[in-house]
Amino acid sequence: MQQQDFQLPAFEAIVQKYCRYFDVASPADFSLNQWYQVVAEGSLNYVYGTPAAPKNDARHVNYLSMEFLIGRLTGNNLMNLGYYETIKQYLAKYNVEMVDVLEQERDPALGNGGLGRLAACFLDSMASLGQNATGYGLHYQYGLFKQSFEQGKQQETGDFWNRDQYPWQSFNPNKTQQIRFGGRIKRIQDDKYEWTPSLTIQGKAFDLPIVGYKNNVIQPLRLWQADNDQSFDLNAFNDGKFLTADKQIVNAAALTQVLYPNDNHKAGQKLRLMQQYFHVACSVADILARHFAQGHSLSDFAKYQVIQLNDTHPTLAIPELMRVLLDEYDLSWDDAWAICTKTFAYTNHTLLPEALEQWDQRLFKTLLPRHFAIVDKINSLFHAKVRSEFGDDPKVWEKLAILFDYRVRMANLCVITCFAVNGVAQIHSDLVVSDLFPEYHKLFPTKFCNVTNGITPRRWIRQANPQLARLLDDSVQGDWTKDLNLLKQVENYVDDASFRQEYFRIKQHNKQVLADEIQRSIGLTVNTDAIFDIQIKRFHEYKRQHLNLLNIVATYQQLKANPNMAFTPRVFVFSGKAAPGYYLAKNIIHAINNVADIINNDKAMKDKLQVAFLPDYRVSLAEKIIPAADVSEQISMAGKEASGTGNMKLALNGALTLGTLDGANVEIAEMVGEENVFIFGHTVESVRELLAKGYNPKTYYKNNKVLKGAIDFLASGKASNGDKHAFDLMLESLLERDPFLVFADFESYFNTQQKVGEAYLSQDTWLRSAILNTARLAMFSSDRSIQDYQRRIWLK
Ligand SMILES: *Cc1c(COP(=O)(O)O)cnc(C)c1O
Repeated sequence: MQQQDFQLPAFEAIVQKYCRYFDVASPADFSLNQWYQVVAEGSLNYVYGTPAAPKNDARHVNYLSMEFLIGRLTGNNLMNLGYYETIKQYLAKYNVEMVDVLEQERDPALGNGGLGRLAACFLDSMASLGQNATGYGLHYQYGLFKQSFEQGKQQETGDFWNRDQYPWQSFNPNKTQQIRFGGRIKRIQDDKYEWTPSLTIQGKAFDLPIVGYKNNVIQPLRLWQADNDQSFDLNAFNDGKFLTADKQIVNAAALTQVLYPNDNHKAGQKLRLMQQYFHVACSVADILARHFAQGHSLSDFAKYQVIQLNDTHPTLAIPELMRVLLDEYDLSWDDAWAICTKTFAYTNHTLLPEALEQWDQRLFKTLLPRHFAIVDKINSLFHAKVRSEFGDDPKVWEKLAILFDYRVRMANLCVITCFAVNGVAQIHSDLVVSDLFPEYHKLFPTKFCNVTNGITPRRWIRQANPQLARLLDDSVQGDWTKDLNLLKQVENYVDDASFRQEYFRIKQHNKQVLADEIQRSIGLTVNTDAIFDIQIKRFHEYKRQHLNLLNIVATYQQLKANPNMAFTPRVFVFSGKAAPGYYLAKNIIHAINNVADIINNDKAMKDKLQVAFLPDYRVSLAEKIIPAADVSEQISMAGKEASGTGNMKLALNGALTLGTLDGANVEIAEMVGEENVFIFGHTVESVRELLAKGYNPKTYYKNNKVLKGAIDFLASGKASNGDKHAFDLMLESLLERDPFLVFADFESYFNTQQKVGEAYLSQDTWLRSAILNTARLAMFSSDRSIQDYQRRIWLK
């Protein structure tokens, strides 16, 4: 598809059409929401109203992900199409501000956090680089829940994002698929089986346009929505033993109603497994149909198609493609396997054992009998290979088996099948080899590689921080939006006082914008001369928001004891959701909110220490917070955060990282130089030593008065209306087990925070560091990530 140049008369014709549609006399009567619909749908007409681009025969990337956290599309698409300024000026004629119109869009929150946002940045980069690609996901009716606070506690409500009227989507009636579940299988001959399912569900395709940056490329994000099949037979459904216990799927449309709200945690639910199969079965069928429609044959499948699995969530695509090749196209096992092992590539996103997906074998077999038989055969054939390599050692097989202990282990199926396995930051990829899959690495030494994550500079600078974008436009030769390496030129300006002054003015402007948002959202007036110290991400013990909280409590106690001590004013900003069933994470949220309440209402803290917890973290809120950050909190326990991408967004926008040597923090520190970041805490190696010696958090509690004071404060009831047990969940976990070594890193963190406060006083030095962060962050563009995928995996 190729877009047209923007024609004002044509746009005006659309505006007039909407006057009739909305039944108003003139556009002057449009509400902001009506303007939003006109602008979005009017631009969409251009997107689809033009002839297709010439066919490009390069390998097509099929990016399979259960989540795409795309954020608002209107502003981004207008910018990438090149229509933004023209439409902005057009709106101005009616005294309408573009930013107000864009605020009308509800974020399509079709993802939990980093993994889904990564998929969205990658789609943007693939389109902008002209890499043929289709994103395949699910068209959830409810996105990630909306978060609010009730007396400091997280409340969740359904996010009805208006899927059915979302202006950027279009139903694609030619792409409908029939997806089967349950039933029985019968062997026909050799590896060919016949499958008689007990349930068929229809998959309907809804496409969102992914617009490349000013390059005429538009390619789809195809989201599948479940619907009742016409031939759906309720009696057969009830008679078969399949799923008789729960009535939830009698209405097939329920299958894609909700996004599971877990980040880095498995949800071992039947419905989730059904979602996963539905997602991949629709996608595999669509990929094959497109492959044939382009005139290619099956023997060329891997030449023209790659299927990238974003974590193990779409792993069922492997047995699904095997099934189709064996049972529908009569391929031999060896031929089908050869295609699969050249087509699939797997991205690992976590080392956390609780997040590695495993399914109950009985559930798997009941729901997907044919796929179970295929996985069983892959497992047996692989067992023979392992025996010949390692001998008949049950300990080795226990680790490498796909089927073990009545479980189906999805990561193992991925590693065995895929031609490439990548981690998402160098340290993580090294740990994938050394800790997670060392035996696999012995068997398949060339499969493993690293592709460090990235973020799109279109959204995370040009759109989120327009003033910084303008400064960069004025200072950099060439379009840095397309080639972030050009930002290296900014280093030349670090000694230019007027550049530094302008950079500072922009940061202060962005801080004022965020201060207004904080005021509007939670009614707190914050001091914009203070350090804006930001931790925004999902709530998880490994991300250690409670470490941040302990420092805040300790600082508060210090200031209470010594009101006149030297102190650089600080505004701590939090934002992030906890999974609804993750009670410990929710307890941390509760504690932060209650401590914030005490501090913000203490007159002695006025303009010195403030804590703002903004509810309902999402992409559009991230875009408001990130440009205003001075300090970026990236304080996970070393070895636990695979990469992080929030760290990149913040550093690119001139926040100094306060972090552990974990995930991409390691590479950020390397790129910007250690004098421009604050690194603290245990490393992967020293964590290992500590745990080997035997870790006892109580020792730290007893020996560190500052830490003890903070813990005792939280246990005193002072921040919980006298309820001494309000934070027991968090405090007992810390004192008894502390699985993420919060206490072990407290002293180092607290001391480093003091250094941060002192460093901010040397304004000019700080500013130079901030500018160098922007100048040296080019490698964290998702364009570079995609080029690495091309060179190391897809086009190798
Ligand atoms: C970037 C982003 C994330 C990921 O943040 P991390 O700090 O890397 O965990 C999560 N949610 C949203 C909305 C984001 O924009």
